[in-house]
Amino acid sequence: MTAKILDGKAVADEVRAQVAVEAAKIAAKLGRKPGLAAVLVGEDPASQAYVKSKAKATDEAGMISFEHRLPESTSEKDLLALVAKLNADENVDGILVQLPLPKQIDTSRVLEAVDPLKDVDGFHPLNAGKLATGLPALVPGTPLGCIIMAKRAHASLAGLDAVVLGRSNIVGKPLAQLLIAESATVTVAHSKTKNLKEVCRRADLLCVAIGKPEFVKGDWIKPGATVIDVGINRVPGSDGKNKLVGDVAFEEALKVAGAITPVPGGIGRMTVACLLVNTLRAAAARAGLEAPKI
Ligand code: NAP
Repeated sequence: MTAKILDGKAVADEVRAQVAVEAAKIAAKLGRKPGLAAVLVGEDPASQAYVKSKAKATDEAGMISFEHRLPESTSEKDLLALVAKLNADENVDGILVQLPLPKQIDTSRVLEAVDPLKDVDGFHPLNAGKLATGLPALVPGTPLGCIIMAKRAHASLAGLDAVVLGRSNIVGKPLAQLLIAESATVTVAHSKTKNLKEVCRRADLLCVAIGKPEFVKGDWIKPGATVIDVGINRVPGSDGKNKLVGDVAFEEALKVAGAITPVPGGIGRMTVACLLVNTLRAAAARAGLEAPKI
């Protein structure tokens, strides 16, 4: 068997095209383009690249991106002051604070300071709580992208045995909540889980977000299962240059799974597309407009 490759780039392009159409409609009603403010503290190269690609995608979708770059030495007080300013700015519909933040800053305090209505990363406890209780919420882009990709392999996720490997607030926990909302039967596994291989092998839908290169092997996968690989790991390639790999041993998995997302070209692309969707939703909700149908 060779698994179907779930092409995150192609699906993300579809979503981004829909966002562009809906953004133009919302801009016409608001009399201004929806705006996304990105805050980057420090010089981390990966964070810089993420913020740059998010800003480019925002502009391409017909929205406005506002970039705020602050030095590594920025105090928590100054960062909170910027967040307060963005909360009050009528032209800003979405705020994302790129993580990780420098050590002198309490990340939770900053994430809790973001207006929940502008919390397009879905990291505010109010949005996390709403998601957990089944209320409309802004949901983190990565798990949203996982659900969209899983639905490319299954018309419905209802009744599937889904295993989420990883329990972070950013990916594993919200993904488990979204899968419960889709009526899947959900197991969340982590570093203390016993018999991890057997647990994974039970899954019709296996979602992996642990940050360990090629950790999940081919014989951890139920034949025909759908595998969603969230991991992004930089490892040395045979040519001496770094290459990106996921948390799943892709070549092995390809022979067993029914469908799989590649790394790169899988969930990473979807994360940015879903951030744009969230910005549109935030803009519509703040203006009392109907939510865009994406
Ligand atoms: P994280 O906060 O470090 O959480 C990792 C999770 O994996 C934890 O729950 C941890 O368990 C679990 N884990 C670690 N080692 C394990 C092991 N040996 N066996 C079983 N479970 C293990 O990571 P994250 O932020 O969720 O990110 C996970 C991966 O996804 C990273 O590679 C990251 O780069 C990637 N990511 C990608 C995107 C994207 O857009 N594609 C977005 C976000 C993250 P404990 O809780 O027990 O410690």
